[in-house]
Amino acid sequence: MTNNNFRSLPAVHVILKIKAIHDLTLTLGQENVVSEIRLYLDELRNSLSKDNSPPLNTSPESIGLAVCNRLTLHFKPKLRKVINATGIVLHTNLGRSPMAEEAAKAAYLAASGYINLEVDIETGKRSSRQDSVREWICKLLKCQSATVVNNCAAATIIVLKSVAENKEVIISRGQLIEIGGSFRLPEIMKVSNAIMREVGSTNITRIKDYESAIGPNTGALIRVHTSNYKINGFTQSVTIEELIELGKKHNIPVIDDAGSGAVIPLNCKGFDEEPNPVTSISLGADLTLFSGDKLLGGPQAGIIAGKKEWVDKIESDPLMRAFRLDKMNLAALEQTLLLHLNSSTVSQKIPTLKMLSVSMDELHEKAIQLETKLKQIGLCDKVEAKISEGFAGGGTLPDQQMPTWVVDFSAPNLDTQSLSHKLRTAEPSLFTRIKEDKIVLDLRTLKTEEIDIVVHVILNSLKPI
Ligand SMILES: *Cc1c(COP(=O)(O)O)cnc(C)c1O
Repeated sequence: MTNNNFRSLPAVHVILKIKAIHDLTLTLGQENVVSEIRLYLDELRNSLSKDNSPPLNTSPESIGLAVCNRLTLHFKPKLRKVINATGIVLHTNLGRSPMAEEAAKAAYLAASGYINLEVDIETGKRSSRQDSVREWICKLLKCQSATVVNNCAAATIIVLKSVAENKEVIISRGQLIEIGGSFRLPEIMKVSNAIMREVGSTNITRIKDYESAIGPNTGALIRVHTSNYKINGFTQSVTIEELIELGKKHNIPVIDDAGSGAVIPLNCKGFDEEPNPVTSISLGADLTLFSGDKLLGGPQAGIIAGKKEWVDKIESDPLMRAFRLDKMNLAALEQTLLLHLNSSTVSQKIPTLKMLSVSMDELHEKAIQLETKLKQIGLCDKVEAKISEGFAGGGTLPDQQMPTWVVDFSAPNLDTQSLSHKLRTAEPSLFTRIKEDKIVLDLRTLKTEEIDIVVHVILNSLKPI
């Protein structure tokens, strides 16, 4: 309305002189800061032009503060640290497996400088990036050769294409699985140009079903681990052992998509029911494949191990260039594999294995610590440490409820959904479970040193402003 009001707005260059704003130009760049200031001034001008506009503080300091807050909010990184109190160890949406310190450090070194990714230091000649992990995988799985790609989905595609392009791949109807994020076996087969030959039924497949499907155009027999579901009741399936025997009899390659890659024996409920790639290899599978970031506890990767002739064929496929692992993941994977080679320390060194095998006593101790501290802040209702049931997650041990210790609580004057949202959007972000209208904090995925942070986040979210 009044031009006087407009004139009272400070100029952009005046606001740019405010220290906090000036500091932001150094990190975010002058351009971004200036355009945010302009936007804010436009909004102010708009408000002031309205007849009924309330009195606005148009001092440079006030405008500077508002612009600072906006810039900090707008340029907040989208990927942030999360505290995982869900108890789900392999939480795909939270990045699946956290890596061992050694692996994370190797990834950092690879990322921040140069490494001998594809050169032999001794000879100075070009080498394969696969050489950094091949030997370790072979040692661990006692296989002839191995290669790695971006993830197990990529591994499945390139293996099917290399072994059975334009040929039939015999698979049980009970194993035509979908793994989260549109990985569906029938579609993967199509992408690989393999011809899917389904046998058996959803709940029952016998070895003779496979045998009677074998013909002149059979390219492979495949076992796909039904990672994320279980059929209970009247069921029958063929063991990898039987399948390998059948493959040998008819001279047809056998592929084992083991998925989760439970390589070492672990003291954890149901772990021994996961397919073990070492066993598949020792029984004579041609190829076995599994993820790097499930039970191996490393970076995202798809590990392909088995007979050298197949691995060589896979590596010469043009898709390999598109699927190959990057230097950071390779460096992290190498360290993860090295940790696996020491069987007496691996379950303590790899966070995923440590969390899955932690004793109830240790969980109990942490739960009591958390319970005591939460009670001390005096802002939560019904704080209680108790035994509960959790899951491993990430398409592993799907029907294995694992006993765990949790602390649950609610808040006065705040419903559980809103509280959960408040904790999730806090700094750092805290992810929890909800059960029976209470917030559940599962100690399995919380490190001892995170307990104080959790208490701090809850305190900040509940304290009266
Ligand atoms: C998880 C899984 C995959 C996919 O692995 P990603 O590494 O997530 O791509 C494929 N097959 C099986 C059997 C799995 O369990």
